[in-house]
Amino acid sequence: MTREATLIAGDGIGPEITQATIEVLGAVGVKFDWDEQYGGMAAVEKAGTPLPNATLDSIRRTKLCLKGPLTTPVGGGYRSVTVALRQEFDLYANVRPTKTIVPGGRFQNVDLVIVRENTEGLYVGLDYTFKIAGDRRALAQAMSIVTREGSERVARFAFEYAKAHGRKKVTIVHKANILKATSGLFLESAQRIAKQYDGIVASDDKIVDNTAMQLVIKPEQFDVIVTTNLFGDILSDEAAGLVGGLGLAPGANIGTHAAIFEAVHGSAPDIAGKGIANPSAQMLAAAMMLDHVGELDAGNRLRRAIETAIVQDNVRTKDLGGSATTTEFAAAVARRT
Ligand code: NAD
Repeated sequence: MTREATLIAGDGIGPEITQATIEVLGAVGVKFDWDEQYGGMAAVEKAGTPLPNATLDSIRRTKLCLKGPLTTPVGGGYRSVTVALRQEFDLYANVRPTKTIVPGGRFQNVDLVIVRENTEGLYVGLDYTFKIAGDRRALAQAMSIVTREGSERVARFAFEYAKAHGRKKVTIVHKANILKATSGLFLESAQRIAKQYDGIVASDDKIVDNTAMQLVIKPEQFDVIVTTNLFGDILSDEAAGLVGGLGLAPGANIGTHAAIFEAVHGSAPDIAGKGIANPSAQMLAAAMMLDHVGELDAGNRLRRAIETAIVQDNVRTKDLGGSATTTEFAAAVARRT
């Protein structure tokens, strides 16, 4: 069976790591019919806009996208295309797994997944300054929007994810002791969903500041975490830092009508075109895409092949202390699929 999917190679190191990823997907034997589209800087050069309608139409049709990192100009220029895509397709669950792959770091057995609500909270854009007594920026106010429906759907996603991936526990992370209305509603809604999974997936809850501390003391205690937008943003970067950083961190943005898979890192302009980028994060994102379309065995094989290439075969790119090029690493992974 061949599935149609949109492919955005991206900017900077995007084309290099995407090419390497297509190669290993070929090796695991799952076929995709790629509809190649553009976004970011590459799209500005080709179509005069960072997010062409053809790209949106393609994702609308295929509902599935593997995306490379896209450059966002700092200061002026266009808004983040990655954020625009999340909003356009209502990709409400941002899923970021964190797992120890390279031995010898501070933590040996980290294997957790953070599910971050991706559309509500403090990221809705209601962020204002007010003028008082001639000072145009004397007061600032941000509004956080939390809905029962939004909280329940991301909680349901987290529990379904746990069930499908053999995970044992979902921890609901909140600040309901202080933010009684917003965080309180999130906690109450998520707990209601948790009850529906009694006996199937265990659950507990933790206050966000305690969670941040527990993550750096005993990260092995966490399995799946579900939380609101800002807390998830911060905790998922903290978690990536526990296991060796960006080159190994994949992410998925999932909604009802579409899903976009990508590496957490950016376009790395400092190493673009040199052939030394680590394609692991993009490959791990592709493995999540395989899970998403029901190819769980192929997803697991790809993850195992990446681990074996790094740990057993000791084929590592520069960021992991090795000297392998992007293509040499891809070949090593392909051999192990
Ligand atoms: P970055 O993630 O691109 O790079 C940070 C550092 O990590 C750099 O030193 C880079 O060389 C290194 N690095 C990143 N990925 C690597 C890989 N796969 N292998 C080896 N080293 C790697 O972050 P930045 O420099 O802050 O951002 C560059 C551009 O990327 C900006 O325009 C930013 O807006 C964009 N960006 C896009 C996304 C996305 O599309 N999802 C995410 C983050 C940043």
